[in-house]
This record gives sequence, structure tokens and C-alpha cells, in this order.
Amino acid sequence: MRLFLSAFLCASLFAATICSRENAMLSVAIDDQALPRMKGATEKLDKELIAKYGEGQRARVERGLRQVAEFWRAEDGDAAVFEEFVRANFAGDQATLDTMFNRYQRLLEQLYGHMHEINREFRQQADLDAGPVLPFDEVFAGYDPLAHVVDDFFNNKLAFVVLLNFPQTTLEERLEQGPSWTRRQWAEVRLAQVFSKRIPAAVNLDVARAASEADSYISQYNIWMFHLTDQNGQRLFPPKLRLLSHWNLRDEIKADYADAQHGLAKQRTIQQVMERIITQTIPEVAINNATVDWNPWTNEVKAAAEKDSDAAPSTQMRITNAAEPSTRYAMLLKTYQAARKVDPYSPTAPTLIARRFDEDREIPEQRVRAMLEQVVTSPLVPKVAKLIETRLGRPLEPFDIWYDGFRSRGAYTEAQLDAIVSKRYPTAEAYKKDIPNILVKLGFTPEKAQYLTDNIVVDSARGSGHAMGAAMRGEKAHLRTRVESTGMNYKGFNIAVHEMGHNVEETFSLNEVDYTLLQGVPNTAFTEALAMVLQGHDLEVLGLAAPDARSDALKTLNDFWNTYEISGVALVDMSVWHWMYDHPNATPEQLRDATVEIAKQIWNKYYAPVFGKKDVVLLAVYSHMIDSFLYLPDYPIGHLIGFQVEEQMKKAGAIGPEFERMTKMGSVTPDMWMIHATGKPVGAEALLTATEHALAQVGAQK
Ligand SMILES: [Zn+2]
Repeated sequence: MRLFLSAFLCASLFAATICSRENAMLSVAIDDQALPRMKGATEKLDKELIAKYGEGQRARVERGLRQVAEFWRAEDGDAAVFEEFVRANFAGDQATLDTMFNRYQRLLEQLYGHMHEINREFRQQADLDAGPVLPFDEVFAGYDPLAHVVDDFFNNKLAFVVLLNFPQTTLEERLEQGPSWTRRQWAEVRLAQVFSKRIPAAVNLDVARAASEADSYISQYNIWMFHLTDQNGQRLFPPKLRLLSHWNLRDEIKADYADAQHGLAKQRTIQQVMERIITQTIPEVAINNATVDWNPWTNEVKAAAEKDSDAAPSTQMRITNAAEPSTRYAMLLKTYQAARKVDPYSPTAPTLIARRFDEDREIPEQRVRAMLEQVVTSPLVPKVAKLIETRLGRPLEPFDIWYDGFRSRGAYTEAQLDAIVSKRYPTAEAYKKDIPNILVKLGFTPEKAQYLTDNIVVDSARGSGHAMGAAMRGEKAHLRTRVESTGMNYKGFNIAVHEMGHNVEETFSLNEVDYTLLQGVPNTAFTEALAMVLQGHDLEVLGLAAPDARSDALKTLNDFWNTYEISGVALVDMSVWHWMYDHPNATPEQLRDATVEIAKQIWNKYYAPVFGKKDVVLLAVYSHMIDSFLYLPDYPIGHLIGFQVEEQMKKAGAIGPEFERMTKMGSVTPDMWMIHATGKPVGAEALLTATEHALAQVGAQK
């Protein structure tokens, strides 16, 4: 992963400010009263400025006045203040505009760069393996010096200077006109996007509150597995096993493929549990409670016959199978209601759906939908499904959307790899010293390898490892890696190569991009795809044989099946958000019924023909749907982008120079970036082609 500080939620530095604002909180209270009557003032200024700077400036004058008036509030000043501000700050000739642009670019880089340094220092104790974390360290780690920057810039009117002089754009404009813009025009567009919203603090606070409430609901939604029984009342799971919905439940289904004796019964029972969570027929007392036994088939609950935790039954608890009262959907509804309050303050993306697709992803919703549908309707799906049935030796069941049996055993055992790695890298320092060699093996020239090494600081991580880039030139990227006292193990090495991939991307996309306003990559899917390319070559770096064609093919089939599954999940998430926008006054029960219906419809359309069973609701089980504001489509898009980047590297034959060429492009739209990188826009073809080849490879050898 790549650790994003709060202001760095998105891959692009300045776009990041925009998305983080939806999560930002606590700024000065702004009273959001009606705008002053600006109309007369704008008409007067319009004439005056065109007379002063010439007819050639008409379009810029009109646009600038419109953009400023749109965000101007009563507390910013009356018509006289407005007029004075516009006269003083309109850049009516190219030289003044150039000076303004260059100065904003430089000063914002300084601002974000230094704030990022502060943030990194404040997080040091929490992030690094540097002794105990005291309570105040956590407060430092949670502090965000950028939280109020956009508010401050509206208050001191630096934001209005940008709005008066640089263009606000919609995604449609960026897609249609973007390819013909100069790099400078792109940088101006990114500059204006920093100030595309002015959300009152109270609204931000509501969003943050709804998000944290939903998050806390989700994070305590555990099922005590020992207390589940199958149809016959038999226990299937070991004592003390507590699984968080949906992540751990899904991963347990995956792990159960290895349990020849009880795996199938366990998987079927977990499916029952998931369905009861989605339909909210789960007994309320069965949630996060080790003091009752629950049969998810009959839905019967009773006092636990055996104990596996210290928890004592609550004296108030009544043991009945009364259902959870649609709390899941009440939480989701609250996130929607909070997100909707942002709409009036976001003129270029006036719904959460638009903000997610048009701003965070910069791929229109219809295109994303079309790509996902291309995956779920691919003729390869029934072929891969058939292969899975053959490998399982039984017909597919609905939970097999999480089939996990395509993983291949490599040529080396984990223990052998651990021994090789720990000998080579006994300390983080030893890994740091070897970075130039590693990069040369990955195809970078010795000079580039040295340049990159000089830009990477290696630290000992407290957790498993992460990468943290810089936000201004002259600052270095940080690679946080975990090294045990016995030396680095293989897992740690594999992660370190991934994080180093982030650092390499971060170094190129900050230092070699022509405008720092364009630093970064289009979105997080790109960062991850690029890091995974290097990670995928970790064995060669160790001088061991690369994965053979068959294990490569199995990995592709695994990715394809995962993408097929998560595409359906994403389509449900998208439809549910549309339903909420279409039914703003819905009750939690109505939302529950609608979600169940949507999940069934999508299943029946794209999954039932393959699984031979209708009306399955499983696609609605993801917890992100409840607390993450339409985040799920990022997963399948990430898979597709990953394949495109990977295929291009294969085609080019060398990673190093391709990596540099791609990442110097900076933060333009995903399609422009991908066309520059691979010749084609973002799409599913690379995944589908690779799957077709993989199917031929594995099928031939079966
Ligand atoms: Zn990563």
C-alpha cells in the first residue's frame, strides 16, 4: 500500500485537497446566507475590464466574474468589496497571468510540501519501529495541518484570485478538450480544481460524523463462529474464532477450499450468515455475541451451550430471534443524507456520484459501467466457471464467486525463500545498500538507479511496511520496511519491493514532471498498478527463476475471477446510490428492500446463468457499501488498469525505461495517461486477452 496522509487521499496532490474536503472537519463556522446581489456589479465590471484589456479578454473576463460570483458569500464583502477585489486581481495580460501562475505553482508546492513534511514528522512515532507510542503521539499522528487550508484561502481571497483567472472545468470538458490542451493549460486546470468547492464547516462535519458512525458500526460487526451451527445443529468452527463481516467471512470461505472434510459445510453456512446480514433477518442478539448459539438455517437462537469467551450474558439480553432492525441500511442512508448536503457547494460535480466518477476517478460513470458489463458478460466467464467446476469436482454454488483455488505453488517453499532473503538482507541498511543493484536488475540504467536511490530514504516500519512520497522537489520519498531481528523474511522483501515501486513512481512523477501542479498519477489505481509491476518481479531480483508460464496463467485466471466477482459488487453499489438519489426520503426498510432487489437483479442478469441459481443476494455483502461512499468501483477499475500497465511492460520488454516514460506524464485524466502509456484508453481488453491466453495455457495442460 501507499500511505496517504489525509490531504493525500487521491493520487494527485492538488486533486487530493478536493476529495479530502469531503472528509475534512472543523473549520471556522461559516454562515451560509444568500449571496449579495452581484448582478449589477458583474455587468459593470464586465464592460469596464473589456474596455481596459480589449475584446480578446472577453471570454476570460466573463468566465472569471461568473466563477467568483458563484462562490462569493455575504461575509466576503458587499458589492463594493467585490468590485475592488476584481479590479485589483484580474490578470488582463499574458505577462501578469504568467507571473501569477508561476507564483501560485511555486507557493502551493511549498505549502503542500512543507505541510507534508510536518505531517510525516508528526506521524514518525506511530509509523516507525521506534519504541512505545504514548497517547499524545497518537494525537500528533492524527493532526492534519492542511485541514483548513482551502477555508483559509477562501477567507483571505487567494482562492478567489484563482477563480477569477483560471478555468473551472467539468469532466466532460476535460475529456473532450483535454487532449488538445497544452501542458500549461492542464496545470491551470488542476490549479483551479483545488478551489472547485467551498463546503461550509457544518456540512463537512456532518459528512465526517456519518462516516465515522457507519465505520464504527461496521468495525464491530463480528460473528462468533463457534456459536454457529449447521442444519443439524452441529458446530463447524473452532472456539474463539471471531470473524468481521464481510472481510473475514469472505476470507474464511476462501480458506475453506483447503479443508476437504468440512470446507463445503462451512462455506454453505457462511453464505447463510451473509444472506441474513444483507436481508437483515439476522437475529440482533447473534451479532458480536459469544453468549448465544445461532442456527442461521432455521434462524433459531438459544443461550450458548458451551463457552469460548469470558463474556458473560448481559442481564438485559432477551434471547429471541428478533431481527436486526435494518440498522445496516439506516447507516448507509445517513451517509447518503450527509453527502447530499455537499451538493449545492460543488457546482461542477453536484452529486456524490458525480464527485466520485468525475473528480476522484475522472472516468465517466457510463464508461465505468460499460467496462464492468464487458467483464461480467464476457464469453470467458462460462469457460473459466467450467474450469473451476472441473477443479472442484462439483457444480458451482453461489459462494464460489470467492473461489480461491487458482493460486499455484511456486518452485520454492516459503521457508527456502525466507532463508535466502534473511541471509542477503540481515538489516534494513543491507536492503538500502542493494537498491541500485535491484533497480538495475529491473531494467533501469546504472545512472537512473543511482538517481532513484539518492531519492529514497529507507526507514524501519512499525507495521508491515508502506511508502510515503514527498510533495515538493528536493524532498525524498520514504520506504518503510519491516526487518525482524533474524533478518528480512520473504514476505517483508516482497512488500519492500512493492513499496519501492511506489517510491520510484513518486520520484519520477514529482521530479520529472514538467509542472509540479501536475505531479502524481491520475488516481490510486495507477499507483497500485505501478507498484505491483515491480513486486511481480521480486524472484528475478533475488536471482531465482521467474514464475513459469503455467503459474503466470493461473495468476491471471485468479485475477479474472476476482474481477468478475467485484464488478458485480461495484454495479450493486452504483445502483444503490442512484436509488438513494431517486428516493431522497426513503426509510431504512425501503432502502433494505431496494438493495436486496438490486442485488438479485444484477445476480440474475450476470451470475445466475453461470451458477444455475436465481435470486442470490450475496453481491450486497461488502461492508464498504455501508461506510465508504461509493468506493467499490475502484477495485475492478484497479484490476483493469493493472493488466494494461503490465501488458505494456511485457510488450516493451524492459521495465525501467517504460516505467519512467509512463510516470513522467503526471496527473492528467486516466484515459490520456493510458493512451500515452499504452496507446489505448482505460479498458477491459488487456485483462480479457490475457485471460484468453491463460485459459488456453491451463486448459491444454489440465
Ligand atoms: Zn501499494
